[in-house]
Amino acid sequence: MSLVEQALPYVRAISPYLPGKPMTELAREMGIPVEKILKLASNENPLGMSPKAKKAVEAAIGGIERYPDQFDLIKAVAERTGLVPNQVVLGNGSNDVLDLIARVFLAPGRSAVFAQHAFAVYPLATLSTGAELISTPAKNYGHDLNAMRAAIRSDTRIVWIANPNNPTGNFLPYPEVRAFLETVPPAVVVVLDEAYNEYLPPAERVDTAAWIKDFPNLVVTRTFSKIYGLAGLRVGYALASAEIADLMNRVRQPFNVNNLAIAAAVAALDDHSFVAESYELNQRGMAQLLAGFKRLGLECIPSSGNFITFKLADAAVINQKLLKQGVIVRPIGGYGLPDWLRVTIGSEPENTRFLEALEKAL
Ligand SMILES: *Cc1c(COP(=O)(O)O)cnc(C)c1O
Repeated sequence: MSLVEQALPYVRAISPYLPGKPMTELAREMGIPVEKILKLASNENPLGMSPKAKKAVEAAIGGIERYPDQFDLIKAVAERTGLVPNQVVLGNGSNDVLDLIARVFLAPGRSAVFAQHAFAVYPLATLSTGAELISTPAKNYGHDLNAMRAAIRSDTRIVWIANPNNPTGNFLPYPEVRAFLETVPPAVVVVLDEAYNEYLPPAERVDTAAWIKDFPNLVVTRTFSKIYGLAGLRVGYALASAEIADLMNRVRQPFNVNNLAIAAAVAALDDHSFVAESYELNQRGMAQLLAGFKRLGLECIPSSGNFITFKLADAAVINQKLLKQGVIVRPIGGYGLPDWLRVTIGSEPENTRFLEALEKAL
């Protein structure tokens, strides 16, 4: 009997996560120098990291022999979100906190609800606990909250919602999310993943942290990987009732966020001009890419994030042709969208290069 057969059957049944192709990997495969490669595949910030965060990382290297202390970042996040520190749980990326929530509430014999074309980490976090995943059909490529409400069973413990969603970019207006929360049984946790929250126009943003007092079953997650430009440091957080946060902390590795990430995140949170600049760049890049897709006659899904998903006659062939030109975007066949590619909005010259490469590929 092989060791593989000894593994938990629900672990063996998981399809692995397919990350965006690393630049170094394409460089090896195609013999292209890595500095000539354009990666628009993982929704990373084209401006890099905030200069303040960079300084903080450099200063924090001095204390790297010490185990990390999360106090400063928890305090900063609590102050920013209007909650108290024991409602903040830090993660090694927000991916980590999604996993913690799953481990607190899911197990074999329980279920979680998620939407077709929603973020791939929800199936992973769910299935790795042995719980059942209930998938509801998408509405215009986004979450159908009525279908999700109807799919909740007596054994359901978590509903996963990404707003905006990745990879489709769909945005659910917040009054609809609030109306949904009103109808969900109080024993079901609703995870509202707001990884792209800072890319929303101010008029569409809502202080969802303030909803936790009305809905103790609400957990809001956010990340420093996207607009804050710290994807490689791995830091994100969850906002929850003190009771849920306490449970999450019991299954959390005590030192899950490293010293450099903590220092960078504290500084990044305060660098308002970097965040504003990143937002503005994204708005301009969105207009540039939408105009480009229109010119090329390509359909795309309206996006509220820092990426756009667009449709092709043969996405796999076009993807290969882009790779040959050193341009990495994201195939999303694994999300049930085999005819589509997702491109991250880059700087103006990056978007221009992408559109030129795409036109050539077509
Ligand atoms: C990128 C992303 C995250 C954040 O991932 P990290 O682990 O924080 O890097 C979370 N949710 C969605 C929907 C995302 O697209």
